[in-house]
Amino acid sequence: MARYDRRKFIRQISLGIGATALAPAISSLAACGSTQEKKLGIALVGLGSYSTYQLAPALLQTKYCYLAGIVTGTPSKEKPWSERYNIPQQNIYNYQNFDNIANNPAIDIVYVVLPIFLHKEFTIRGARAGKHVICEKPMAMSVSECQQMIGACKEQNRMLSIGYRLHFEPFNMEMMRLGQKRVFGKPLEIDCGNGFVWGGDSSSWRLKKALAGGGGMMDMGVYTIQGARYTTGEEPVYVTAKEEKTRPELFKEVDETIFYKLEFPSGTVADGKSSYNANWNHLKVKAEKGWFELTEAYRYGGMAGSTIKGPMPFDPNVNQQALQMDDFAQCIMQNKPTRVPGEEGLRDMKVIEAIYRSIANGGSREKI
Ligand code: NAD
Repeated sequence: MARYDRRKFIRQISLGIGATALAPAISSLAACGSTQEKKLGIALVGLGSYSTYQLAPALLQTKYCYLAGIVTGTPSKEKPWSERYNIPQQNIYNYQNFDNIANNPAIDIVYVVLPIFLHKEFTIRGARAGKHVICEKPMAMSVSECQQMIGACKEQNRMLSIGYRLHFEPFNMEMMRLGQKRVFGKPLEIDCGNGFVWGGDSSSWRLKKALAGGGGMMDMGVYTIQGARYTTGEEPVYVTAKEEKTRPELFKEVDETIFYKLEFPSGTVADGKSSYNANWNHLKVKAEKGWFELTEAYRYGGMAGSTIKGPMPFDPNVNQQALQMDDFAQCIMQNKPTRVPGEEGLRDMKVIEAIYRSIANGGSREKI
């Protein structure tokens, strides 16, 4: 019996479900019914802005998981979070005692929502504590870190997923369908850009190379690489890139704006760009027999898209994070692979490393 099933089994027994009821209990668990008992417990690790304003509210809307615990380095956050989300004291951890989460059956999944340099450490500690893990994007500081995270989760027989919410968002799912199924023929050219004008604090971890690994490319560019990859359904083989900096005093350590070109095996070329100094948010595709595009592509809501035939008819404001976390909970319960595993984060990191290599080599054409 997998560790998850065994733990649930013990809980079912302790809830007084007798042996005769066992088979139906487990199969209904796999079928994922609607009772509270079947919701998996998630602990958010890091209570910054994404946890506060997106993930925790989304966990009030999920059907298969709920906010069961928190891990924070800021004691003053404990009380308001525990009151707001009804979190018992025994499910509250800090970064030092985090490993004790191993003894807490209320937590099934840890969700790492920390600055990037901490993703590897907390993913591995979470898996070693026997928990399944969701790790935020970008997955880690380097390809090597991604590989270590994947290896540790495999070793512990735990599932690892990356917080790629757009795989659960209807406009982006339509781009995947149109591109991968060649609905308008083969994609020929992709134009993808993501960025915003940095108005934040100059002391942010996002501007420190040792904490963020890089700048606009790591934070925003990863969505465009994702977009090009999931539209073609292919892995790029070569990349050429260049960097521009208009505010070097602010972006001393990390990239501000990067332009890159990806070459895919079947001939598609993607022109991508990322920035902390320009407002971009698009994924546009020219294909052999038409075009399709998102003009609001990577946001939490307010998506917009159309094809040569007219506007895309989807709900622009689904709760992406709720769909993403519910899907992962169902994958665990039904023991089926997630569509956004660690390997998906690793593939993007390979592209990002090749982009940085190309820039370091003066715009060379780098094999990915
Ligand atoms: P944030 O700065 O708002 O929060 C970071 C949290 O980490 C804070 O609670 C901070 O206290 C804590 N922390 C622990 N150690 C720290 C250290 N040494 N330095 C700085 N902070 C430390 O960041 P955020 O926007 O919540 O981003 C967190 C993660 O979530 C990042 O990986 C980011 O890329 C990702 N994110 C993803 C999305 C998405 O749409 N999927 C959106 C926003 C952020």
